[in-house]
Amino acid sequence: MNEKFDSTTRADVRPLLHLQTEGHVRHCKIIGTIGPASQSEDVLKRLILAGLNIARLNFSHGDHSFHLENINLIRRLSSEVGKSVTILQDLQGPKIRCGKLIGDKMQLVAGEVYRLKYGLTQDDAKVIPIDYKGLTEDVSVGDRVMMDDGLLILKIIEVKDDFVGVEVLDGGTLKNRKGVNFPDSLLSLPAMTEKDSKDLLFGIANGVDAVALSFVQHAEDVMQCKNMISALGADTPVIAKIEKISAVEQISEIAKVADGLMVARGDLGVEASVEKVPSYQRRIIEAATTHARPVIIATQMLESMIMNPIATLAETADVANGVLDGADCLMLSGEVASGKYPVRCVEVMASIINEVETWTGRRRERYKNLRDNVNDVWQEHEAIALAACEAADSLNAGAIVCLTLTGSIARTIARWRPRTPIVAISPRQDVIHRLNLVWGVYAMKNPLFYNTDVLLQDLPNLLKDLKIVKSGQAIVITAGIPMKQMKSTNMMKINIIS
Ligand code: PGA
Ligand code: MN
Repeated sequence: MNEKFDSTTRADVRPLLHLQTEGHVRHCKIIGTIGPASQSEDVLKRLILAGLNIARLNFSHGDHSFHLENINLIRRLSSEVGKSVTILQDLQGPKIRCGKLIGDKMQLVAGEVYRLKYGLTQDDAKVIPIDYKGLTEDVSVGDRVMMDDGLLILKIIEVKDDFVGVEVLDGGTLKNRKGVNFPDSLLSLPAMTEKDSKDLLFGIANGVDAVALSFVQHAEDVMQCKNMISALGADTPVIAKIEKISAVEQISEIAKVADGLMVARGDLGVEASVEKVPSYQRRIIEAATTHARPVIIATQMLESMIMNPIATLAETADVANGVLDGADCLMLSGEVASGKYPVRCVEVMASIINEVETWTGRRRERYKNLRDNVNDVWQEHEAIALAACEAADSLNAGAIVCLTLTGSIARTIARWRPRTPIVAISPRQDVIHRLNLVWGVYAMKNPLFYNTDVLLQDLPNLLKDLKIVKSGQAIVITAGIPMKQMKSTNMMKINIIS
């Protein structure tokens, strides 16, 4: 066996080169949802080349054969292009929807009165079927009902044993299977539906890299999903989608048990109200970074690009502010899944991110704010993570290189948002894929992980080839030694590149 980073190893690091624009390595990652507009081989390949880091499979739509085809295609293209792409399975969760309507749609007029009834298909023009059995038990007179992402607003005027009477406040067209939210009611929904369990089994069996759980209400919901995953013999990370007020209220408990958070702004805007979303976004990001968890900002980031080839000024600012807020990933939904310009959207998002990141090095501020929050007794690796960021900053180092088995140290370093790129080296392919979700981390697989001497000897040349460092520059290295004992990080070393 060749005791060096051989050509096969180097193939794994091409993504690094690919993500650089004029010497800048992009820190904030891009998620795109795969759908009719992006499932073809050609578009998917161009998405990957344009900078897509994570492909999201939305299990609210499509059957298992559709998703399996996409999983296989993404894996094949990712290895052909030589860039690791993470597959994120997004479980629908207990989302309530209306049923199939007569003529596939109906007009709701303000002031008119309708009945909501459990059912999957409509057979009376005055009755709207809702696919939630517990409806009549969980709601009260005066509660609001929102349909189609809050476009239609109704108010409950009576609650009977088998139906709920509603009056339309804001009318419009209701179409088949649109989402229905009850922002004022406490619903006794399960964390995961039967469909979610089946989908999860499918996802784990087909090796998805991470799972997102919709409509999380409290930490136990996340635990339930994690327990199912371990029962299946896997340790796939679970991202809690924060889209209920109750989840925002318990954000710290949820951040502790979840492996990542998503600011699911679409449903959150309906469940709370849109004007609350920007401050919630910052609270969720803060909770995530305090616990060293990756955080995703989702929904309507480049919404108008579903139809148009350019973004609005407001969208551009929203993406830029997401970067400034410290998000690990920004997510595109309909823009990539069903829009007219899926590849263009990723290009636009990447260029906005690059523009903001090259303009600002915000580490000092992040350091100041966060240091006060993270005041528990630290473990060694946490102290080393901060020391590595400090050292890299003072020395103007080219890279922080961490040798990591589980990826934990890379997340802990990224928490401080150093200006320096974080290069994570792990022997585990699943860890590499997980680290794709983490701000500023570029992960590469190295089969010679345990041979520290050889690895450190060859590292400078590798980083120089990748144009991450120049001769004379410092690199900061962290590791858990002795490596063969699988220690967690307990060492930091500084090398000057010759
Ligand atoms: P969804 O989640 O697209 O699955 O609804 C994101 C959101 O609610 O914003
Ligand atoms: Mn949602």
